[in-house]
Amino acid sequence: MGSSVSTASGFSKATGRPIIAFIGDSTFFHSGITGLINAVHNNHKLTLVILDNETTAMTGHQPHPGVDMTLLGQPNTRISIEEVVRGAGVKQLTVVSPRKVKETMEAVKKSIAFDGVSVIISKEICPLYAKRVAPPAKARAFMVNQNRCKNHRDCVNLFACPAFYVEDNQVKINDNLCIGCAVCAQVCPEKAIIPKK
Ligand code: SF4
Repeated sequence: MGSSVSTASGFSKATGRPIIAFIGDSTFFHSGITGLINAVHNNHKLTLVILDNETTAMTGHQPHPGVDMTLLGQPNTRISIEEVVRGAGVKQLTVVSPRKVKETMEAVKKSIAFDGVSVIISKEICPLYAKRVAPPAKARAFMVNQNRCKNHRDCVNLFACPAFYVEDNQVKINDNLCIGCAVCAQVCPEKAIIPKK
């Protein structure tokens, strides 16, 4: 709950190695801003990834200062995370969609190489929250083409999407859990993950 930034500061000083910290959007407002300002002020070298899913997902979708509505549904003034980060003196900031794997990887490499505090805002609405407030049209689920799959299970062990499972020694995707985000298709090296017809 907010300690990632200040812990990363400590690791960056103690190890001299590239450090990456993660924080959610609501926790960033709650207690992450102070650590970020401290890191910039002290010239620490770290990358902070702010996971901006437009809600407080961990505790049940409560609003936070980065969204438009209060808890009672009244319109409120939205505070831009991007502007707060720039206002804290961060010179290297990238906003990415985590659904675009290549773009996100490039942002990570560029941020790690930066000599100072860098921030990546990874912006994508929480799928469960999106279902509640504005249900998206059901995207096409994905499936594993067993003729192409080499069964090395990078998708299960490294990507670890909860829609994946193993049955009869084959990797499969549960239609009911797949939201059709297409990230798995980008990470499979064999191009074995395809949209269902
Ligand atoms: S990463 Fe692709 S090829 Fe490897 S097990 Fe998963 S679906 Fe099969």
